[in-house]
Amino acid sequence: MSRFNIAIVGAGPAGYFAAQALQNLANDERTFSIDMIERLPTPWGLVRSGVAPDHPKIKTVSKVFEKIASSENFRLFANVEVGADVTVAQLQEKYDAVIIATGSSLGKKLGIPGEDLRGSLSAAVFVPWYNAHPDFVGVDTPLDAETAVVIGAGNVAMDVARMLALEPSELDPTDTADHAIDALKKSNIRKVYISARRGPEHAAFTSPELRELPKLEHTNVIMKKADIDAAIVRAGEALEKDVKSNLDAMLLIAENPKGEHERTMEFLFQHTPKEILGTDRVEGVVYSTPNGDVTIKCGLVISAIGYQAQGIEGVPYENGKVVNSDGRVHDNLYVVGWAKRGPSGVIGTNKSDAAAVMELLVSDLGSPKNAGDISELLTHQIVVTQEHWQKINEAEIAAGEPKGKPRVKSVERTELLNHAGL
Ligand code: NAP
Repeated sequence: MSRFNIAIVGAGPAGYFAAQALQNLANDERTFSIDMIERLPTPWGLVRSGVAPDHPKIKTVSKVFEKIASSENFRLFANVEVGADVTVAQLQEKYDAVIIATGSSLGKKLGIPGEDLRGSLSAAVFVPWYNAHPDFVGVDTPLDAETAVVIGAGNVAMDVARMLALEPSELDPTDTADHAIDALKKSNIRKVYISARRGPEHAAFTSPELRELPKLEHTNVIMKKADIDAAIVRAGEALEKDVKSNLDAMLLIAENPKGEHERTMEFLFQHTPKEILGTDRVEGVVYSTPNGDVTIKCGLVISAIGYQAQGIEGVPYENGKVVNSDGRVHDNLYVVGWAKRGPSGVIGTNKSDAAAVMELLVSDLGSPKNAGDISELLTHQIVVTQEHWQKINEAEIAAGEPKGKPRVKSVERTELLNHAGL
């Protein structure tokens, strides 16, 4: 029996699915000891810091992650930063294979004037702010103007627009960060535009998310019927199933009678952002449209136009992704998830993606190195192990119980470490 030591860098969906694929590839001849290394004191990646808190069902995948982590051949090393506390090269020396699963955490830039004004933020900053990510507690999110604009026609833009346009008391029974619920309750925002640079037939929203919108209890959702009708004509008869499903869902929204709620979310199509106006802070967005330039006055702009991977020393990057061939990087280094293929697909997409890379990895393995593991490299770090994480998890769930929430997330690292008894 050969026992291979594998390091997975990043405790998000792609990392857990890579671990699961390895567990499934173990047999009478080979077994895998998996060490998962995570920069934050908490695992679960986007499931904790990305998924919208009003979508709790999506987060139930964390049960799968915990089952994977319950294997005796799995260890968590959280609160350890690869690239700072240990290097990729050190891990490559110790382990039979190293898998990068660090996702794409940086927001793509619009590259237009005014983008750096106060009140112009990327979803890559705003989303972790409302999701209690320790690095984003202090983000400046001015919510004092009446109008906000969200740029992008994908599901992240939709999540952000919904979070801004919901009646904030709807977030009380969720695990939204307390600081975000407080700020959203004080917010003056009543109108949220979500702008797409192309027509409805090209939008990257998915239809389940669109079909949810008319069910919002306290928010008017507006799409112009003329926009959808024109898109249906442009798309023609032979349109793809997903596009048809999206257009059907959009037609339902467009035909849904406008409510009399105080809060409104309105979709703008064929609006290409040209400039963000303002001197000290955001005052509006200028768009070019088929009918000429249009200015929308607003005090907050959130761009949700995609992500790119953050670099780690020792890993080659190009176009916001790790340079790879089907997940192979070089030597015994591999990559899975968004860091491999870019920021696309739902959480489940990472399962088949990671499984395919793990098959390649296993086919590359020779004999085990038996060269030790990360514990020999960490001398001063406070490591959050799986047992510590379970204590944090239990403390957060217990704090949520009296408030009718799934959990109250702790945002400060010190508080998280205290829960773990560290
Ligand atoms: P996305 O689906 O790729 O959408 C990005 C959007 O940004 C596109 O509409 C794109 O328009 C637009 N865009 C790009 N550059 C632009 C620019 N310079 N100016 C204006 N618009 C620009 O990305 P995402 O929303 O970040 O989502 C990432 C992945 O996570 C997706 O696969 C998504 O489905 C998934 N996700 C799923 C859920 C869920 O299942 N509930 C929730 C969140 C995210 P063009 O098409 O014109 O380039």
